Amino acid sequence: MAYAFAYSSPDPNDGRFDNLDEIETSQETSGEKSEKSVQQHQNDDELTGIVRKTTGKDRYVAQNADVTGSDIKDIKQLFGVRLKPMKKDVQTEKTDFKSFLFGPRKKTAHPHSQPKIKYQQPDKVSTVDPDPNASYPNNFVLKLRSGKTRHQRGYHESVKPLPHDAPKKENHTRFVCVSDTHNEHDNINIPDGDVLLHCGDFTLAGKMHEITDFNRWLGEIPFERKIVIAGNHELSFDPKIMEGVKIAKEKKGYSRWGSYLEPILDKDYKSVSSHLTNCTYLEDSGETINGIRIWGSPWQPEFGGWGFNVPRGREILKKWDLIPGNGIDILMTHGPPAGHGDKVQSGMSVGCVDLLNSVQLRVQPKYHLFGHIHEDYGITTDNFTTYINCSSVNYQYQPVHKAIIFDLPNKVL
Ligand code: 5GP
Ligand code: MN
Ligand code: MN
Repeated sequence: MAYAFAYSSPDPNDGRFDNLDEIETSQETSGEKSEKSVQQHQNDDELTGIVRKTTGKDRYVAQNADVTGSDIKDIKQLFGVRLKPMKKDVQTEKTDFKSFLFGPRKKTAHPHSQPKIKYQQPDKVSTVDPDPNASYPNNFVLKLRSGKTRHQRGYHESVKPLPHDAPKKENHTRFVCVSDTHNEHDNINIPDGDVLLHCGDFTLAGKMHEITDFNRWLGEIPFERKIVIAGNHELSFDPKIMEGVKIAKEKKGYSRWGSYLEPILDKDYKSVSSHLTNCTYLEDSGETINGIRIWGSPWQPEFGGWGFNVPRGREILKKWDLIPGNGIDILMTHGPPAGHGDKVQSGMSVGCVDLLNSVQLRVQPKYHLFGHIHEDYGITTDNFTTYINCSSVNYQYQPVHKAIIFDLPNKVL
């Protein structure tokens, strides 16, 4: 029987899982410094790895240790380490502690490895029915995982991002994706590329000075093209919100957003997006670059009464029905679809069920980009579409997430 060292620290906050290649254990130590190393035991093959005891620092380290036979007793006595039998299927010459503690590693696919995956493009439908689980995205996602929905494709595998310095192939366009910059645009490191894609929430409240400062930044960054959509924080871009502010002002009533947005009422509030002069602004509309078709849409399921909020179900499905079903390559929405990049801090999925249905069954883009749920930044795939949550800020609105890049072959030379 092979054994791995198990952690037995009395202190749960000592960051022991920060580096699982090195399992540590804190114990009271009284003796002098002693060290037991791999060399001592390599010959009899009883102990591999390194076991180290350091006085003063009060800690033991068992690194890649896999022990058998009489050493168990020795080690227990010497170091007081609790030993745990390893499961049969993880018995390897060199213990993989991550697998031992958390199960086998997830396989990851690189975005560029996509063409190698055997999945065929599934049959397309021309219309998507409202989903009975539309209001319960978390339940929907649980069903999705257990294969109890009409979706036949793989669920939520994570994908490694392409490094920013990866060389670009000839006749390809490099897209650089960001979202949710929330006025932090100057503090985000933007890699080189051909087209910048921003999935909304570039301001905190859609105030005019926020819009003009974002537009100034767009003018400074060196991209051939920049494509931007709005998010729920671009309040002034949503005519419904502005109508509410206008009516409240006329009737001298209260408006939640009045103090932010009243100055915009004096200008032509119906064309606030015209202040974004240094990009192409998409709102239920598309753009084609080097033959690559892009569609942008700001809507998200109702949450908190912000901009572009729409009730889940039939109403939001109508917005997704505006996305063409005939060959969109890159879909940009502000919010995520259910099950991809949509987990909030509690671990609950809050993405849009009807958006996932529309993406998987009807639109079938190569890439679906979004933000909105800052804490689930990253890339996933269903083995046909690559889903990118490119939120630049984290849950605390700090600009800590890297821009995500990908390349697509040009369709026109
Ligand atoms: P924002 O206000 O920038 O649009 O979103 C910020 C955060 O609000 C997200 O990172 C997420 O934690 C939370 N949030 C946004 N939409 C939803 C939602 O529909 N449900 C829940 N539970 N949280 C949300
Ligand atoms: Mn946001
Ligand atoms: Mn948002």
